[in-house]
Amino acid sequence: MTIRILLKLLAVCGLLIVPSAYAQTLSILPDTQQLVLGPYLEYLEDASGSYQIDDLLQAGSAHPWQKSDQKILNFGYTDSVYWVRLTLNQAGTQPQRYWLEVAYPALDHIQLYIVRPGQSPQLIEVGDRLPYQQRLVDHPSFLFPFEAVPGEDASLYLRVATSSSLQIPFTLWRGEAFIQKDYERTVGISIFIGIMLVMAAYNFLLFISVREASYFYYVMYALSMVGLTAGIEGITFKFLWPGQPAWNDPFLVLALSGMVLFPCLFTRSFLNMSKARPQLSWLLLLLAGLSILTAVGSFVLDYRLMMVTTMLLTMVSIVINFISGVVRWYDGYYAARYYNLAWSFILGGGMIMALGKLGFLPRTWLTEHAGQIGAALEILLLSFALANRMNYERKTREAAQQESAEAQRKLLQMQIKLNQDLDRLIQARTSELEKANERLQEMSITDELTQLRNRRFFDQNYSKEYMLAHRNRWPIAVLMIDIDHFKELNDTHGHLTGDLCLAKAGELIGQSIQRPSDLAARYGGEEFIVLMPNTDEQGALHVAENILQAFRRTEVTYGEKTIRMTVSIGVACQVPDDSKPENLLKLADNHLYQAKAQGRNQVVWQCSNPSASSMN
Ligand code: GH3
Ligand code: MG
Ligand code: MG
Repeated sequence: MTIRILLKLLAVCGLLIVPSAYAQTLSILPDTQQLVLGPYLEYLEDASGSYQIDDLLQAGSAHPWQKSDQKILNFGYTDSVYWVRLTLNQAGTQPQRYWLEVAYPALDHIQLYIVRPGQSPQLIEVGDRLPYQQRLVDHPSFLFPFEAVPGEDASLYLRVATSSSLQIPFTLWRGEAFIQKDYERTVGISIFIGIMLVMAAYNFLLFISVREASYFYYVMYALSMVGLTAGIEGITFKFLWPGQPAWNDPFLVLALSGMVLFPCLFTRSFLNMSKARPQLSWLLLLLAGLSILTAVGSFVLDYRLMMVTTMLLTMVSIVINFISGVVRWYDGYYAARYYNLAWSFILGGGMIMALGKLGFLPRTWLTEHAGQIGAALEILLLSFALANRMNYERKTREAAQQESAEAQRKLLQMQIKLNQDLDRLIQARTSELEKANERLQEMSITDELTQLRNRRFFDQNYSKEYMLAHRNRWPIAVLMIDIDHFKELNDTHGHLTGDLCLAKAGELIGQSIQRPSDLAARYGGEEFIVLMPNTDEQGALHVAENILQAFRRTEVTYGEKTIRMTVSIGVACQVPDDSKPENLLKLADNHLYQAKAQGRNQVVWQCSNPSASSMN
């Protein structure tokens, strides 16, 4: 019902020419170039295929001839034989030569009877079940020469039996017009097949370089289309197997099966279906499997069964492929966009063509070529989709590479910064350690209470200085200083005050020495020692006197207490000889002892022998 409404609509739109007048006898005007006979035909179904031309020609035969209402008679797939008839009458005065064309190369058996009054019917037999060489005219379409004589009606009886869809595009041509139309038709097919072959070749080269299955399936898909087109147009029969009419039918099924198998495989791989949409992927595989069955079946099973099955399979597969594209598009898969666009062309074109072949749509130029146009556009767009996907993948790869390079750069920067931080930290730690070491070193040679050098430091340096002075023959002086009555001070004011006084004593002694080479140290308890290299007795005495005076005039205040200290100093000075360094110290100690003995608060620089001397 829907189809009828659709046909009406098409008719209203002027796409379908429905004849308004039917004439059993058709007059051919003298200037006729092309006459589409469809609308003027009568047809008769011969379900058993048993009618003979003589039966039909018998006067008073009661066969139910029906008027055609189509430009191109289309009975779809049928077991019946169909007869069509028409009487032609040449107007004018001159006889004319024409060509009658049945433009459907897949028809198996066509018998044309030309019946002229008073003559026995003339039979011409053609069909794609007959070897190609038997044709009257070397052309994929079926062509019959026809001469029309004015005043002499000629009836045409056409008997058609075929396992393909039964369509009868029946046209009367003037030779020149046919040549022109045929030229256009040839160019059209050549363009289509050319596009397909070029795309197939190009993508095959890509397949060889890229080694991706999608390209292979694409190539096979395009070749299947070429095969189907060339088969339908009779090109394969003419050029590839003119002596083997039996191959024609299976080949069409084979090519059509390829148009199910390869797109399904293409879709699976191109749209990444097995991972993203496993169920649809299985469905595509199932269709692919079925198409392999129809391909194999085409050689052994009934052609019509296989053809109809494969066509249904084709329609289902077109829909499933299209749905796959839409679903993947919905998934947000970038490559699905052009794929869908491509697929909508074949969907539209293929549907129109298939409906035409099945007899649901009348045979027009559009229904005949919709599939090819859709297919050509699809193949072009799919190739674009492949290229686009490759481009996208390259960009994605590049972006990922860039990202990883950027990440690596950041990592490297981070590492450098970390290293720098670590360096700084190590430097800081090292310098802290160095400072701590220095402090430790300083502490290890410093007397904590007086901040003078300690005894150990003095001992280490004394012998060195002594040897140096010995080598250089210069004098070396030692002052041995002891605070007077310190025990008493301690006892009177307390040990803490004693410490304070000791610190003050250290300060006074430290301030008294001037030269960098001089060394003041706490020798033990409240006893100090000053070493002065390269210093003669006079210099040493001068320093000793200074120290003595410094103590005399210094008061130590502790809270409200005021404490005065005095010191006794033993001085020893000599240019060192071979004697031991201790001797000089002993001498200084002796002089100190003597100073104590002489009443303290004085300097003694010579022993109490005749040359010993002291200073108050
Ligand atoms: P002299 O005039 O004979 O040297 O008498 P003196 O009391 O100073 O001599 P002595 O050697 O008998 O006493 C030294 C005292 O110094 C004994 C000790 O308690 C005190 N002393 C030694 N080292 C320290 C110290 O580090 N701090 C304090 N507060 N006192 C100390
Ligand atoms: Mg003492
Ligand atoms: Mg003392």
